[in-house]
Amino acid sequence: RWELSGSYAYRVDEKAAEQARWEEASKETIKKTTKPCPRCHVPVEKNGGCMHMKCPQPQCQLQWCWNCGCEWNRACMGDHWFDV
Ligand SMILES: [Zn+2]
Ligand SMILES: [Zn+2]
Repeated sequence: RWELSGSYAYRVDEKAAEQARWEEASKETIKKTTKPCPRCHVPVEKNGGCMHMKCPQPQCQLQWCWNCGCEWNRACMGDHWFDV
């Protein structure tokens, strides 16, 4: 990529480019570790390898499955409680 070449433009924009890369990386991380609650669509962060999710919204608190994207059920408990 051209901005890694050490050109004049790179030196001038170094800080901006650095910032952009960092933002891009953190956006990727958020995409991988959060999914919207199936009921209220608030973004919920995944906690370790467990597929059992609970919505943090006090008025919702839906227990749902990260894997299926629906309400937590017996199949989820048996099949993919943990991401291993
Ligand atoms: Zn919810
Ligand atoms: Zn499931």
